[in-house]
Amino acid sequence: AFFDTWMLPYDESIKGTVHSHPGPNPRPSGADLNFFSKFGGVHIIIAYPFVEDSVRAYRSDGSVLRIEVVD
Ligand SMILES: [Zn+2]
Repeated sequence: AFFDTWMLPYDESIKGTVHSHPGPNPRPSGADLNFFSKFGGVHIIIAYPFVEDSVRAYRSDGSVLRIEVVD
């Protein structure tokens, strides 16, 4: 899902974002990169089939960030 970012309050405490992709491609789209640049520094995309191996994290510039998913 996507929403207009102008609807969000400005909040410096926002550290990053999480969203899902309906398909198996976990790479950020151009719109995602634009969105990432506005909020925090860690951006997680959960791609289909929504399992641990389909979770990816990126910095605001779109470079891959290694994270560990913990319980
Ligand atoms: Zn996306």
